[in-house]
Amino acid sequence: MIVDLHNHTTLCNHAVGEINEYIEAAIKSGTKHFGFSDHAPMDFDPKYRMAFSDMQVYEKDVLRAKEKYKDKIEILLGYEVDYLKGHMDKRVLNADVDYLIGSVHFIEGWGFDNPEFIGRYKEQDIDEIWQKYFDTIEEMANSKLFDIVGHLDLIKVFKFMPNKDINEMAKAALEAIKKADMTLELNVAGYRKPIGEAYPSPSLLKQAYKLGIPITFASDAHKPEQVSMFNDEVIKMARDVGYTECAVYRNRKREFIKF
Ligand SMILES: [Zn+2]
Ligand SMILES: [Zn+2]
Repeated sequence: MIVDLHNHTTLCNHAVGEINEYIEAAIKSGTKHFGFSDHAPMDFDPKYRMAFSDMQVYEKDVLRAKEKYKDKIEILLGYEVDYLKGHMDKRVLNADVDYLIGSVHFIEGWGFDNPEFIGRYKEQDIDEIWQKYFDTIEEMANSKLFDIVGHLDLIKVFKFMPNKDINEMAKAALEAIKKADMTLELNVAGYRKPIGEAYPSPSLLKQAYKLGIPITFASDAHKPEQVSMFNDEVIKMARDVGYTECAVYRNRKREFIKF
């Protein structure tokens, strides 16, 4: 991927491989702008993220790599932040980074994308949880705290699909994303999950394009070998819809790169 802004490190406790290995894989695949956006610390669900005391180490490690590889690739520094009311922390929101990805991994405290809690789907009205999910994305956009929307339709991860029209359910969320001037990531992690397709779906991507919402690309790698996987698929998907450029962020400011 020419631009790839969503990648993890071992600090989140569920990724493997050294920072340098991710970067070497990115260089090998032709990536020009590669960003780390590890799961930011939070006083909720601490098992799947770095600790607050890790922030300094994380930022230093990434900045050291940025310097080391500057002739070969541009390394960017970000966080993937959970939009979860009452648990977002100023130390993260005000961190001196290139960008923040806002993601929804919880519906009313339920980690719906975690296989550990998959049983909960059986107790729920699927249409209702999809709507709740997109309502939370809308709220996240309206908060104006973040630059990039993480995996827009993550709620499809385990393939519990709704009866209602998804584009209709996501409409208000997409309009809020446009209004907040956020960027949508084309995230390939979905190809590695039961749903077997990118986030967002081609149909939602088309809707985003019509609204004039910009995109960027995301491996969402938790292992070095996942860097740039499914690159051809997402580039084609973006081009088919009409996109010709993608976003990078430096110091929370957006610029566009042709792809
Ligand atoms: Zn993760
Ligand atoms: Zn995520």
